[in-house]
Amino acid sequence: MAGRRQQQRPIYIQVHQADNVAVIATEGGLPGGTLFPCGLELKESVPQGHKIALTDLSPGEPILRYGEIIGFARREILRGSWVDESLVEMPPPRSLEKLPMATRVPKPLPPLEGITFEGFRNPDGSAATKNLLGIHTSVQCVAGVVNHAVRQIRERILPRYPGVDDVVALNHTYGCGVAIDAPQAVVPIRTLQNLARHPNFGGEILIVGLGCEKLPPERLSTDGERGSILSLQDCRGFEKMVASLLEKAEERLIRLNRRSRVTCPLSDLVVGLQCGGSDALSGVSANPAVGYAADLLVRAGATVLFSEVTEVRDAIHLLTPRAADSETARALIREMEYYDRYLESGGVDRSANTTPGNRKGGLANIVEKSLGSIAKSGRSAISDVLAPGERVRRRGLVFAATPASDFICGTLQLASGIHLQVFTTGRGTPYGLSMAPVIKVSTRDELHDQWPDLIDISAGAVLTGESTVEEVGRKIFLRILEVASGRKKVWADRWKLSNDLCLFNPAPVT
Ligand code: CA
Repeated sequence: MAGRRQQQRPIYIQVHQADNVAVIATEGGLPGGTLFPCGLELKESVPQGHKIALTDLSPGEPILRYGEIIGFARREILRGSWVDESLVEMPPPRSLEKLPMATRVPKPLPPLEGITFEGFRNPDGSAATKNLLGIHTSVQCVAGVVNHAVRQIRERILPRYPGVDDVVALNHTYGCGVAIDAPQAVVPIRTLQNLARHPNFGGEILIVGLGCEKLPPERLSTDGERGSILSLQDCRGFEKMVASLLEKAEERLIRLNRRSRVTCPLSDLVVGLQCGGSDALSGVSANPAVGYAADLLVRAGATVLFSEVTEVRDAIHLLTPRAADSETARALIREMEYYDRYLESGGVDRSANTTPGNRKGGLANIVEKSLGSIAKSGRSAISDVLAPGERVRRRGLVFAATPASDFICGTLQLASGIHLQVFTTGRGTPYGLSMAPVIKVSTRDELHDQWPDLIDISAGAVLTGESTVEEVGRKIFLRILEVASGRKKVWADRWKLSNDLCLFNPAPVT
């Protein structure tokens, strides 16, 4: 418990030497009158994660965190005061013109040779971290029948095939009642098509359609063969539907069950990064540690996806210089512009992102949230940019454009082909995905203590100084290898917790 005692010490964390604010790291916050070793005295009580002024700030003066302007002082703020969100005027959005393009491309870090994981080898040459039977759907109308069949398969058939991890229904709200030919319909359709190709299904996906829907099930088929499709309107009665589904499922389970794990190079692994329920400590502990793990993955040849457009929009000037070439930098700007227009069409801007929980956790606005969020991307060059739901095509660090919504980002990263996701959280969420394991990393030890059976790793030791960012990052990297190899189960999988597939559908519903 030495660590917990240490945590009671008054600690603030200043991220960058130019910063004129710092965040309180001490568990439970600190009372007014607290004296720090540097001589700074708190003028009032400040909750954990919230900001204090390190210098006197005059009205209109820039407030600096991460060495960047996160806002302007709305009135005079004295040294040692709580810089509450109401005192921070948000800066206007950064122009997407005249951004530096591929001007500071990071040199590759030294490669890590010979690192492997134990995965399943798919017929198309890709690898898998789980051996799943996937039952895809072309329209929501069939969800009830599919869910019924999945329960039957789990109870009656799956126990005979111990080599298969689970059966997963891919239910969603698309398929009919939608403007299928609208230009933006390409996003949900591409997402559903790429979910069918997810490596953890081993090329054995089964597709259930209704028969009269706008999205023909053939468009989701990976092999173009009718054999993988069951159309309910071709069946005579409910029981026949279920019997046909169970029969097709078992054919696939027999083949999937023959697979076993083999040693795969890390270049076969695709890892997604996401955050949800962030706080002001996310950018200090969990996200930088995940960023270090991302660097190790890239050095070992793996592919790493980071996402969430509204959470990189205000830090875009720090990302375009890191693009591997100007074409990749332009693609980053293209995705920012696309999302600016999308938000504008709904009458909002990027400031609609922050949640009450984010602000309670000390995040004043989306600018501060973004600067902490991009720490997940580490220090590598950005090798590629994917539009929402596109499949990964280049190794290294990839920006996969998605909304920041946890379940939509998760769904789109799955469509892009992630084998595993690392998810950082400050406030806490029981989030999980049915198709790939999710390693949840908390920003603070107290969240891990509160939810020891939901949070996989705490990055809290970074806040107390007991561990470095690199040490926690290495721990996350090693956990990724264990989870990808099936040697360790994440909490969400132990409890079978998973969020629904939630499509990003920017096109009209009819
Ligand atoms: Ca998110």
